[in-house]
Amino acid sequence: MTEINKFELLGLSPKALKAIKQKGFEEPSAIQELTIPVMLRNDTNIIAQAQTGTGKTAAFGLPLIDLIDERKTEVQALILTPTRELAIQVAEEINSLKGTADLRIIPIYGGQSIDEQLRRLKRGVHIVVGTPGRIIDHIGRRTLNLADIDHLIVDEADEMLNMGFIEDLEEIMKHTNANKRTLLFSATMPMRIRDLAKKYMADHEFISVKHQQLTTSLTEQIYYEVRGSEKFEALTRIIDIEEDFYGLVFCRTKNDVDDVTARLIDRGYDADAIHGDISQSQREKTLSKFKSKKINVLVATDVAARGIDVNNLTHVINYSLPQDPEAYVHRIGRTGRAGNQGTAITFITPSEYSQLMFIQRIAKTDIKKSSVPNVRDIIKNKKKKISEELENLKTKTIDNLYQDWAEKLLEDNNPTEMLAQLLYHSFNKDLDPAIYSNIQASSDRGARISMEGKTRLFVAMGKKDRTTKDKLINFIVENTRINPATIDQVDVYENFSFITVGFDEAETILRFFKKTSGRNKPLVVKAKEKP
Ligand code: ADP
Repeated sequence: MTEINKFELLGLSPKALKAIKQKGFEEPSAIQELTIPVMLRNDTNIIAQAQTGTGKTAAFGLPLIDLIDERKTEVQALILTPTRELAIQVAEEINSLKGTADLRIIPIYGGQSIDEQLRRLKRGVHIVVGTPGRIIDHIGRRTLNLADIDHLIVDEADEMLNMGFIEDLEEIMKHTNANKRTLLFSATMPMRIRDLAKKYMADHEFISVKHQQLTTSLTEQIYYEVRGSEKFEALTRIIDIEEDFYGLVFCRTKNDVDDVTARLIDRGYDADAIHGDISQSQREKTLSKFKSKKINVLVATDVAARGIDVNNLTHVINYSLPQDPEAYVHRIGRTGRAGNQGTAITFITPSEYSQLMFIQRIAKTDIKKSSVPNVRDIIKNKKKKISEELENLKTKTIDNLYQDWAEKLLEDNNPTEMLAQLLYHSFNKDLDPAIYSNIQASSDRGARISMEGKTRLFVAMGKKDRTTKDKLINFIVENTRINPATIDQVDVYENFSFITVGFDEAETILRFFKKTSGRNKPLVVKAKEKP
């Protein structure tokens, strides 16, 4: 597309722009557009009101990467997060955005070995992402010097307040130099946070994302709660259960668009992709194929889908959650046009539930929970469709050769058996339930969204041990015989992983690994902080 890249207007370095491209971001989110230029322009403190999932991390992370002096190996920025999980996520996200910059970013949180943290701190670190308790620990031990930092970033300040970390936060602030810049991000601005800001951030710029007046179309809107690894399967089921699926599938990054499209084509679907790296002529070709229904699935980023003018879509699928309510309304506005009936389906992982509720509230709309079509129903529908097609064929005249052939076969064989064999031969591949992989029925896990009755476990095994989500689940299930459906929110990092399970399952798992561990420390332990 010839459209200019809006990231280029924010003042970021060419290096940063390259990293952004590699990451697959096409356009800054609202909070990024507001925060990045301010952060790059001057040293002013910033208070920013923004929800989770809006791209806050990149909003402060990208300018931070540009502002940090690689050659100095002292800590130049401290990012505080309320939970260890968030600390890890933020560190990983910044790492993934640093491109070729020679920066070391480490997460520091309770529950992880202090010795390991000390080793890493000694090696020289530019950015520390930490939870308050453990940071105070290090301050006390004089193993972390915060008296000469350039940036202090407080992420999810209201969550810190909710979790009782506000005194810790003040304590940490007191140990930092006065001439740093402070950024505070919070979804809400309760009194206590405003007081804190007044006290420690006298001069500041206030940034908040204004939401437009939104009206959604009359499209039927539903959501499915699925794991990240189940999204693709859910998508194929939606396409398969429909008589004539004709839809747009939205992903947040170019990389995801390419990935989903390749997998769809591999499974035999008529799909194609559009995003910002696709040439104008290719884009036009793809759109014309989509309009003439030569392909019935078009996978797109938000930016690339702008200006597509197709009226009769049956579906819009939010494969990844849109970054804000505006993007949601934009996306789903592509179906249900011109009096046509359409359905918008949004996939969310359990941790995205609150973001969806936020979108629903701002977009003043009603998004109903539903469940992914089950395989039996899909196969029933496919059979119905085949039967209809066969019915329609009756009117077609065909060569006598086939008539004679059929008569001969029926003379020699049982007609029902003969026809069954023929159907099996022609359609078995399509009707075989084995082409679908397992999805946890969403009704079985209505409680999954809420963390009540659940425990977060830390597993001392990560990517470096060649583990993956599936392998980790299998490993635990094989050893403990717990029901795999009860394992949730599996996050695999370089050196370790986290899973969430019910209390009972947690007991079983912990007991098993305590018993079998020949190591000094059990392989699985309870995570220290709230998930
Ligand atoms: P927050 O910190 O606000 O909770 P994140 O920074 O974790 O949100 O962003 C949520 C997701 O959106 C991440 O997967 C991130 O990589 C992605 N993301 C962030 N900014 C963009 C962008 N401009 N375009 C596409 N995806 C983005």
